[in-house]
Amino acid sequence: MKILLHTCCGPCSIFPVKTLRKKGMDVMGFYYRHNIHPFTECLKRQQTLQSYADQTGFHLIVQEGYDLEGFLQKAVFRESERCRICYHSRLKATALVARRGKFDFFSSTLLYSKFQNHEAIKAIGEAVAKSTGVAFYYHDFREGWQEGVTESKRLGMYRQQYCGCIYSEKDRYYK
Ligand code: SF4
Repeated sequence: MKILLHTCCGPCSIFPVKTLRKKGMDVMGFYYRHNIHPFTECLKRQQTLQSYADQTGFHLIVQEGYDLEGFLQKAVFRESERCRICYHSRLKATALVARRGKFDFFSSTLLYSKFQNHEAIKAIGEAVAKSTGVAFYYHDFREGWQEGVTESKRLGMYRQQYCGCIYSEKDRYYK
């Protein structure tokens, strides 16, 4: 079975990739870029992820372009809803690539994070599956949270300190 896994970064990929491979899945990653700001941070995460993918032999598709403006246009005046909008954009883009590539499933490393709205991601993933015709693979990867953290530190990976967008950077650093 082929699965396209939306991958937000290297550290968050470790446990989901390992788990999906254990289940016999052929895993390919999809790195979505528009929500990661500024661009230098986006590249830093991308390089970390690419290096991990090279080391562990999983193929990675990197989203083309960098539509910071499009991300902000969707979020402005809806800041309190921005994460749901962002989840939807990321999952929809992943499902569409999965459909073009004839993958059996799509999923996301967002399901690994203890800091995201897990139930919203699950519901949006299922809704996107209905609208695109590609099955959403749900798994609660949070069970491996500590394992992923420990392994990413052992590998010396860059570990970001905020979710991705400029709003989250402010939430993290502006007290
Ligand atoms: S905080 Fe994270 S999930 Fe929410 S909008 Fe920003 S990048 Fe997306």
